[in-house]
Amino acid sequence: MQPINKRIIALVDCNSFYVSCERLFRPDLAKRPVVVLSNNDGCIISRSTEAKQVGIKMGEPYFKAKPLINKYKVAVFSSNYELYGDLSRRVMKILKNFSSDIEFYSIDEAFLDLTHITMESVEDYISKIRKTILQWTGIPVSIGAANTKTLAKVANHIAKKKKMGIEEFISKDQNYIDKELKEFPVAEVWGIGRQLSAFFHNNHFHNTYQLKNADNYWVRKNSSVVVLKTIHELQGTCCFPLNCTPTVRKNCCVSRSFGTSITDMYDLQEALVNHCITAAERIRSEGLIAKTIYVFIKTSRFKKNYLSRVEKIDIPMPTNNTLELVDLAIKALERIYSKGHYYSKAGVLLSGLQPRADYTNNLFSDLNRNLDHLMNIIDQTNNKFGRGSITLAAARHNNQFKLRRQHSSKIDTSFIQRAPVVKAG
Ligand SMILES: [Mg+2]
Repeated sequence: MQPINKRIIALVDCNSFYVSCERLFRPDLAKRPVVVLSNNDGCIISRSTEAKQVGIKMGEPYFKAKPLINKYKVAVFSSNYELYGDLSRRVMKILKNFSSDIEFYSIDEAFLDLTHITMESVEDYISKIRKTILQWTGIPVSIGAANTKTLAKVANHIAKKKKMGIEEFISKDQNYIDKELKEFPVAEVWGIGRQLSAFFHNNHFHNTYQLKNADNYWVRKNSSVVVLKTIHELQGTCCFPLNCTPTVRKNCCVSRSFGTSITDMYDLQEALVNHCITAAERIRSEGLIAKTIYVFIKTSRFKKNYLSRVEKIDIPMPTNNTLELVDLAIKALERIYSKGHYYSKAGVLLSGLQPRADYTNNLFSDLNRNLDHLMNIIDQTNNKFGRGSITLAAARHNNQFKLRRQHSSKIDTSFIQRAPVVKAG
């Protein structure tokens, strides 16, 4: 029996999330191998179980995986973050119905505090969460529950291999958990990277049970306090509490590699204006203003005469106003641009972010008031009619710098014009 005062933590993780999102609108791909590629169709970043089985590796460049892809008729998708972002929001919204204490860990993972339910009902409860998400969104998830986040991660790995997609350590005795830990590779433990696992391997820790029983003093001396906490977590003592309040971000960076490199300053300007619009929208949606703007441009580091330039401008009156930020970004670009180079990437970083509400107005602040109002109206219009319905003329959209997305499903469930169409007969 576990002591009564222990927490119950569940980790919900969407299975092959990007692949699952694409499959929602392609039921014909349910049993076929499917992969999703990173930006500019570079590398494999999500694989269905079938794609894993035919030997396609995570992170492998697309061109290298092509022979296997052709041989096994693997369906390929370019990444479509509008779709993934929207489905992630839907999944997380459902999770909020099951617990108010929730940490959104990544686009497809969340920790839930389930201490409010009894130990005996954990299995039914997490099974219900899984079924609800599947029924309401079509996304399959795996759920692991345990007394600590690190053990919940272990349980989640085990859940992934089970047909029911769930595993819980709450109602199990220590022998059961230890048996699982003996089978569990150290490299898979949350927070133990490749380097650390090699270090432990060299010191004869071959499974997680051995790691759990490592000498505290030896670990502290040879590793870090974080690893020591991980070991305590494996023993069932909570050291990493749930982080339920999202931290206010300090920076907002929007950058992209170009599908094909560009040389003209006005094309670079167009890319930067679009990045600036996105970054400004993002910080406005979080109620923040920026003190500093950085603009950077670079050529490919794999080609001759590599060039990387950055310009920093301190903003006299912190702002989140698109017009002001775009103006500064263009000025910054003019200072760092030099002719005759093939640029492969450009970006904008808004820094020194602070809540708009905390900013004390000064003598000149009235100048901004009307612009704030204008930004509100633009944001509301774009929320209602879709991104980019109102934008700046400088964001021309001639597609030159657009990402390479040859295999995109082009579906966006948050934007009516890009929703899938069902045709009769
Ligand atoms: Mg996942």
